[in-house]
Amino acid sequence: MNSTKIKNILLEADYSEIKRVFKEAKTVKQSTLGHDIYLRGLIELSNICTKDCLYCGIRKSNHSVNRYLMTKDEIIASAMFAFEKGFGSIVLQSGERDDENFVGFIENIVEEINYLTSQQLRITLSLGEQTTETYKRWFNSGAHRYLLRIETSNESLYNKIHPTNHSYGNRVNCLSVLKEIGFQLGTGVMIGLPYQTITDLVNDILFFKEMDIDMIGMGPFIEHSHTPLFGQPVYIANSHSQLLELSLKMIAATRIFLPKINIAATTALQALDPLGREKGINAGANVIMPNISPPQYREDYLLYEDKPCVNDLANDCFDCVIKRIEFTGQKVALFSSGDSLTFTSKKGNIT
Ligand code: SAH
Ligand code: SF4
Repeated sequence: MNSTKIKNILLEADYSEIKRVFKEAKTVKQSTLGHDIYLRGLIELSNICTKDCLYCGIRKSNHSVNRYLMTKDEIIASAMFAFEKGFGSIVLQSGERDDENFVGFIENIVEEINYLTSQQLRITLSLGEQTTETYKRWFNSGAHRYLLRIETSNESLYNKIHPTNHSYGNRVNCLSVLKEIGFQLGTGVMIGLPYQTITDLVNDILFFKEMDIDMIGMGPFIEHSHTPLFGQPVYIANSHSQLLELSLKMIAATRIFLPKINIAATTALQALDPLGREKGINAGANVIMPNISPPQYREDYLLYEDKPCVNDLANDCFDCVIKRIEFTGQKVALFSSGDSLTFTSKKGNIT
């Protein structure tokens, strides 16, 4: 599959042809990875952020946000909930901080979770841009996956959606460093950003291949009224339903182009449609990331508005996720690490 085929998928307007492409992508997923869907328990451990991305609801200049940092005990309790339920893997995500207090806090928590679970719970970090030394410390403490979205592979668009002191070059460099250290590497983009074009999205998928990415977490851009990008012109989708369809086409095209990769059906899909994540699975995704953060913190971690599951308890989310996945004809792979096949099939990588 080349860039023309990717572009054709993204531009396809005929409903029956779109349905056929989604089916093709799901078939590719099933024949490459089977019927399994992997769970990652998402722990949003802090909304304190030193950065000011123009799209994000918890950017540092949004003074209406009530800032929090979960305690070590709370984070560990959430991780143990995931472990006992059979999630197989968790994602520790937060706003970006690079101070020693924070770096050491994460290092210590990762070590403790590994100790308490005899290293049977895979830990993904999603904590933004850090120095090589910090990434190495976190890797050595026992985190083996890292999720850092490139947001868009178009440098000039990247510059439009970030303040001038954020650097595209540094973001790409971080991805290379993470790979070099040995992390299973995740990235992704936002779909339907102001000024974004279909060609940008095609290039995003080519970027995933070029960077030898193992996991993809991409989803629709959803405006937040307390951010500078609110109300900026979006060229490639005029409504929530168009944005959902385009996001699903991105999942399908990525699955067909990169069959072995892990692709998440992200929560933002569900913000556009109550069945958004199931539709993601039906378009070729194989990972779901239920939010298992304690309920009292959820409404303070609003990257975008109308985020779903904000009022749910972790247990309710778990039960509803299992039912929702079965509804797609797939099965939840409990107690499975769910490593990316792109990663495990490389010589020398141990699962
Ligand atoms: N601070 C870390 C992780 C938390 S943000 C980081 O930036 O990498 C996680 C992701 O949320 C970002 O990568 C971005 O793609 C997504 N995000 C932020 N604001 C969003 C919005 N308004 N709509 C959709 N996704 C958004
Ligand atoms: Fe901070 Fe991440 Fe939001 Fe940027 S996207 S403002 S780094 S939390």
